[in-house]
Amino acid sequence: MINQIAVIGGGTMGRGIAYTAALSGFEVILQDISEEAIGNAREYIENLLNKNVTKGYIESLQAEEAKKNLSYATNLQEAVRKTDLVIEAALETMEIKINIFKQLDEFAPAHAILATNTSTMSPSEIAACTKRPDQCIAMHFFNPVHRMKLIEIIRGLDTSDSTVEVVKQVAEKMGKETVEVNEFPGFVTSRMNCLIGNEAMNMLMEGVASVEDIDKALKLGLNHPMGPLDLADLVGLDSRLRNMEYLYHHLGEKYRPSPILVKYVKAGRLGRKSGRGFYDYTNK
Ligand code: NAD
Repeated sequence: MINQIAVIGGGTMGRGIAYTAALSGFEVILQDISEEAIGNAREYIENLLNKNVTKGYIESLQAEEAKKNLSYATNLQEAVRKTDLVIEAALETMEIKINIFKQLDEFAPAHAILATNTSTMSPSEIAACTKRPDQCIAMHFFNPVHRMKLIEIIRGLDTSDSTVEVVKQVAEKMGKETVEVNEFPGFVTSRMNCLIGNEAMNMLMEGVASVEDIDKALKLGLNHPMGPLDLADLVGLDSRLRNMEYLYHHLGEKYRPSPILVKYVKAGRLGRKSGRGFYDYTNK
């Protein structure tokens, strides 16, 4: 039975997962190594709760309950001390994830399930640094978490059936649908989405069409709800580049990151989070 969830990493995804979990009745501790990230995450979550009350999507009582369910921490050991489930949403590098999972294994209770929100990486490799690989799994949420219906569930080599069952129940309580995917780099969604986004970036670089027209073509011609460049800005171009690099390294040439993506990240154009990516958000 999952009562308390610790979310590790309070960036784009961690704050969304914490918001959704708290609103679904779980007790949530959101942890980040950065004080600033925690402050920003708290502000984001409280603003989103207030906005959704104003818009009539949730009752004010629900928002109050969600606020009571939430606490914030910078110390990982304290954050996971009594947790039943950890959802790690720190940066997409294997080194960071392994470092975090070693600590989770040491400090979280023996019964706790350790999940990663990785977009592309091997949950088996992450689990291998723990003494409980049967209780490790990937729960891949989508952005923005409170609006996107899916959680992709990826079993590692040793993930037990009961771990899969428990995370499916958690997903259901959060109001999400799940798909179960066997471990492979990029799973189903990131592998597909990264290629579409990368092709759009290459087209932009080749001068095939403008940013706006590439996005409009996919929205109105192919019925995508968002254009691929708009979506990449929402994801964060730094996050997208890490995903592409992992896929390129593991699956080969087809996934080579578009040079324009590399250039934008080097220039600090990270999408919505930095105010500028393929679009300019500074006056919005
Ligand atoms: P982000 O850059 O927005 O946030 C990452 C956060 O992790 C930062 O606040 C950082 O301070 C924190 N962090 C770094 N090292 C840490 C540590 N050792 N302990 C605790 N916190 C730490 O990244 P994001 O886009 O939220 O991505 C997080 C994870 O979610 C990645 O694995 C990514 O691939 C995955 N993901 C991202 C998206 C997306 O649309 N952005 C979608 C699905 C999955």
